[in-house]
Amino acid sequence: MALTISEANLRLLIDLLIGAGKRVIGPKRVGEMTVYEPLLSGADLSPGTLPRRSAKEAFFPLSETILTYEKDKEGLKVTDVDTATFPETVLVGALPCDAAAPQVMDAVFSWDYKDEFYLERRRRTTIIGLSCTSADDSCFCTLVGLSPTETKGSDLFLTPLVGGGYSCQSISDRGGELLANYPHLFSETASVTPLPPARPEGGPVDLAKVKGWLEEHFEDEIWEEVADRCIGCGACAFLCPACHCFDIVDEGTEAKGVRRKNWDACAFGKFTNHASGHNPRDLQNKRYRNRFMHKFKYYDDKFGKTLCTGCGRCIRSCPVGIDIKGILEEIQKR
Ligand code: SF4
Ligand code: SF4
Repeated sequence: MALTISEANLRLLIDLLIGAGKRVIGPKRVGEMTVYEPLLSGADLSPGTLPRRSAKEAFFPLSETILTYEKDKEGLKVTDVDTATFPETVLVGALPCDAAAPQVMDAVFSWDYKDEFYLERRRRTTIIGLSCTSADDSCFCTLVGLSPTETKGSDLFLTPLVGGGYSCQSISDRGGELLANYPHLFSETASVTPLPPARPEGGPVDLAKVKGWLEEHFEDEIWEEVADRCIGCGACAFLCPACHCFDIVDEGTEAKGVRRKNWDACAFGKFTNHASGHNPRDLQNKRYRNRFMHKFKYYDDKFGKTLCTGCGRCIRSCPVGIDIKGILEEIQKR
């Protein structure tokens, strides 16, 4: 027997969650694109296509206020943002490369400094993952230890079935709660046939071997070969489900303003620019080398994790055709 949910009941579940006051974020068609957005109803859900931007904005908004300040006759008044006001959220329809990414980012956001803005949103979010049935030639989750049927990071995991609907697998207590709260939406089905999972091209990459090579080749002509043409647009970092660098800026006047946390990107020329004017990553290829090293060496050194889920977004969107999958494969050959 398999636990299943029909397409209509999945949309009804979204309606009920929204009715219960939850923010439900999922893939939605907007013009020619699919993007993760808060859904207004179950009818908005457009499952199965990898959204253009990743789902990280559910936990780590592009820009957020972390405090406000105001000066009056009595002095300076600082008001922190109350993280208790963050909404209970359900992220629905996250494909495995997006569902797996928050667990990777948790390590850095709960390391030396506990980032309560990120962590509180994570605590308040349930992830309904979805097995992936259509890969394009930029996808490479299987090269970085994941797969189109990977359940890592999901609380409840859905697998599309031949004839419609989904089989459901509870992965965590949160997933179990969802099943327990809406039992009338799920059925026991005697026999189910899953749609064939996607088959990303390329064999697995030996990430330990790649890391070993990186340890020996901080200086190597490959960085100029692959990255001198990078124009530093930052699209790769902004679309990536695992990139997480941010900058903190004060906006306003001496009398009144806000402190904001804004996404940043190591491809930007000013990312490591010192106040003295010195920039240790003074050339674009050094910035790209840092991006690659961070994903496949430094993050592993620090947290034992790879900072890439193989979603392929950075390949699809790079305006100059820089291909991180091709670089991994090239390093593996060396
Ligand atoms: S580095 Fe590229 S392929 Fe890897 S997770 Fe980020 S956007 Fe996706
Ligand atoms: S998307 Fe391409 S050009 Fe833009 S910063 Fe990334 S690697 Fe460079």
